[in-house]
Amino acid sequence: MRLVILGGGESGIGTAILGKKKGYEVFVSDFGKIKGNYKEVLIINGIAWEEERHTEDLIFNADVVMKSPGIPDKSPIVKKLLEKGIPVISEIEFAAPFTDATIIGITGSNGKTTTTMLTHHLLKSAGLNVGLGGNIGKSFAWQIADNKYDSYVLELSSFQLDGIMNFKPHIAIITNISPDHLDRYDYKYENYIDAKFRITMNQTEDDFLIYDADDEAINDWFKTHSTKAKLIPFSLIKTFSEGAYIKNNKMEVKINQEEFTMDTEHIALEGKHNMKNAMAATSVAKLMQIRKATIRESLSNFQGVEHRLEKVLKIHNVQYINDSKATNVNATFFALDSMNTPTVWIVGGVDKGNDYNELMSLVREKVKAIICLGVDNKKIIDAFGNVVDMMIEVTNMNDAVKMAQRLSEKGDTVLLSPACASFDLFENYEDRGIQFKQAVKSL
Ligand code: ADP
Repeated sequence: MRLVILGGGESGIGTAILGKKKGYEVFVSDFGKIKGNYKEVLIINGIAWEEERHTEDLIFNADVVMKSPGIPDKSPIVKKLLEKGIPVISEIEFAAPFTDATIIGITGSNGKTTTTMLTHHLLKSAGLNVGLGGNIGKSFAWQIADNKYDSYVLELSSFQLDGIMNFKPHIAIITNISPDHLDRYDYKYENYIDAKFRITMNQTEDDFLIYDADDEAINDWFKTHSTKAKLIPFSLIKTFSEGAYIKNNKMEVKINQEEFTMDTEHIALEGKHNMKNAMAATSVAKLMQIRKATIRESLSNFQGVEHRLEKVLKIHNVQYINDSKATNVNATFFALDSMNTPTVWIVGGVDKGNDYNELMSLVREKVKAIICLGVDNKKIIDAFGNVVDMMIEVTNMNDAVKMAQRLSEKGDTVLLSPACASFDLFENYEDRGIQFKQAVKSL
């Protein structure tokens, strides 16, 4: 069997290692350059590869092709493969048949990483032999080749789900759905929603789908579609006989006739959106029969994930918060929503078609000054120019943070939550968040 891998990144190299181990004839082809350390791995393992080209003769003789999630279906090489009827799958589709481990798959527009890390933390703290993968850290395929975990918590993007045929997680989570990445879905929101729901398409009556029952797109999907999986909803406003909800400042999770209750003030993560993430992760923990005391302890000591509403420092009683990962309006909505003080808001970057109206009432209520940190800030200025008293444009992080310090006073919060991608002024959102933290630390 010939396995061709398009893209020599983390998922490509992981798949190559697993494929080789399972006896495939493996070939890796990358149209860009392959990183030095990955090249070494290929060479040490005797795996054939090429870079800066796709040699069609070496690709079209594949029995199966694994495509990295970064390569769109529209790319010429993928189009040709599909025309020839050669299956093009994702890493999780290729790798999953080689493990008996219990798979927990987490998708959604926002909150995937946080929910994945928290779920992993809950299961690991309970002593389970559990791996973490998908979009985070080491590739799933690579771990299957190297380790033997009894279960995996996987963060799954819609692109990875596009490339599945038989893959099914035993427990699936859809954290929420809001428009994102529409350029990869012919600018049709329904295509993107359908991609997210692929996570449940192969699930059976023995499997579970945990989902946000307050989410409009999810609820609409259920009006015209169904799944065989057992449904576990979570909500901030509704209650359920089976599911998770918040009532009187308590989180309640009712599953299999058992009830878990915890004061929300004892949950380390803050903000309404994080209560949703906590309900989703706790539902998994209950399904995996983790003891209540362990769940309680893990929820109270989980310190969150870098660049997601991350508290940086308090200087002269002003709290600085790094939410650089907020690259769309929905993520920023929850960030602003969780502010309890007057806020100086640093926003801007590459806009993926944002509708800022959704933020209007929160901005009116909480934001005292806006610092626009982007090359083109016109949309932000048009949207909020008449809403806040102070609005300033800057073109680097140091100026943004210095200006924020000047505009803030005791008791305020300075929030970096850009609602935009970072590529105009930064390498990526991590670079943006790190620069923010450095600038704050050198105030
Ligand atoms: P993802 O992996 O889906 O991008 P992250 O956990 O990295 O999700 O969070 C991305 C951004 O969305 C952060 O700004 C975070 O504060 C915010 N966020 C986290 N959970 C949620 C949620 N349930 N709903 C909306 N926004 C969220």
